Amino acid sequence: MKKGLLIILSGPSGVGKGTVREYIFSHSNLPFVYSVSMTTREPRNGEVDGKDYYFVSDEEFQRNVQNNNFLEHASFVGHSYGTPKDKVEALRNEGKHVFLEIEVNGATQVLTNHKEPGVVSIFLMPPSLRALENRIKGRKTEPKEIIEKRLEKGRREIQLAGMYDYVVINDRVENASQKIMDIILNKIKENKEED
Ligand code: 5GP
Repeated sequence: MKKGLLIILSGPSGVGKGTVREYIFSHSNLPFVYSVSMTTREPRNGEVDGKDYYFVSDEEFQRNVQNNNFLEHASFVGHSYGTPKDKVEALRNEGKHVFLEIEVNGATQVLTNHKEPGVVSIFLMPPSLRALENRIKGRKTEPKEIIEKRLEKGRREIQLAGMYDYVVINDRVENASQKIMDIILNKIKENKEED
């Protein structure tokens, strides 16, 4: 059986990756599965362990790091996040296409260390730095220094867009999601034709 694709959606914090991912999963019948990450952050209201994330302690996360269980892992706003390697491999070996929605540091690790065929990387780009700033500032819960740090990080992350196979501008969620679904559909077709 042909190994499934590894589809990576990434982009700076605040660009709207989560919203685009949710849109794609609720509006498409594309045959792919979402890879559930492990995290040390607390579940938010309505989040389900094993569906949204595997919620684990710092100790358990570190054990997984030491046992080399992650395809990639990174810290984000004081918490750790990682993609379980064995689960992704098992799904891909069953011929399933696996979708990761991860922050830029982790995506860079995959793109640097796993230069295998079958990886499709998509960078979600804000329409402008001003738009990113407005989105980050829109989260009114954060102090000014944190907002400035996030923006600085976002500016650095945008400079890595050239590492990805595709850059999609998130002007409107529907447009960006449709473009991403078209990219994935084409790649799935190509993957089949190579059989
Ligand atoms: P949240 O806590 O809001 O669910 O996610 C915070 C950030 O972590 C988002 O940018 C999300 O894409 C990213 N993220 C979620 N899972 C993973 C993962 O397994 N690895 C990495 N590197 N980032 C992740």
